[in-house]
Amino acid sequence: MPVLISEAVVLRTWPVHEADLIVSLFTRDYGRLRGVAKAALKSRKRFGGALEPMTLARAWFAERPRQELVRLDQLEIIRSPLSAPVDHARMAVLSFYAEVIDETLPERDPQDTVFRLLVSVLEQTAAVGSEPGQAGAAKPGGAQPEAGHIQAGQPQAGQPWMALTYFSLWMTRLMGLLPDIGRCMVCGEPLGGAEVSFSVSADGLFCGLHRNGSASALSADSWQLAQRMLKAPASAFTSEPWTRKRGQDLRRFTLQTLERHLERKLKSAEALARLGG
Ligand SMILES: [Zn+2]
Repeated sequence: MPVLISEAVVLRTWPVHEADLIVSLFTRDYGRLRGVAKAALKSRKRFGGALEPMTLARAWFAERPRQELVRLDQLEIIRSPLSAPVDHARMAVLSFYAEVIDETLPERDPQDTVFRLLVSVLEQTAAVGSEPGQAGAAKPGGAQPEAGHIQAGQPQAGQPWMALTYFSLWMTRLMGLLPDIGRCMVCGEPLGGAEVSFSVSADGLFCGLHRNGSASALSADSWQLAQRMLKAPASAFTSEPWTRKRGQDLRRFTLQTLERHLERKLKSAEALARLGG
């Protein structure tokens, strides 16, 4: 069997037999698949830190006759999530990406757009950690007694809420679960930003007139944000102020949509909720 090579993101791993690991991988060219990394627990050198979930790597693997799992030969790190500071919020967000991809994509079905989305939000999730440096650089010529120190009132570094919001919104879109958010689902009238709501039991958004009893409001900021996010890359939003509150209702809307179609709760979403995400 020929050895195949593809860019891939490690989703999760679990031990099997004595020292082997099963690895769930999202490859760019072959879609999501599972492989066996033989003796990965014994000889860590072979895979280095590349088996850390959400590592972007180049993967070498081969099909095995009459076996569902591929044989994973080698991973070469392109970008590791551990290269940026890791805190609870970032870990929870990375786990959420992994769980959503693992649960929503069928095996062996290449999804280049989803792959590019994941790579871009991983980059943004890590990029937030570089904010202190950027904050220092934002005042050329000014006094910088505390370069690298985050000042009160600035967006908090290390809280990748923008990337999480962008990923959640785009995943519902790419899964085909997001109808036109510019119009009411019932009457089709253009929504104006005020009195936009979403329901736990239906896709899409509703106008004030067709809001149902148990609906939640989507703020004007989130509604506008959603429309802009569907037209621009994630990197376009990094310079905006991001607190964990921003887009919270939009994330709840997209999460409810994803969970309704999966017909189950996402475990990683509970961790995010505990962090106030
Ligand atoms: Zn309506």
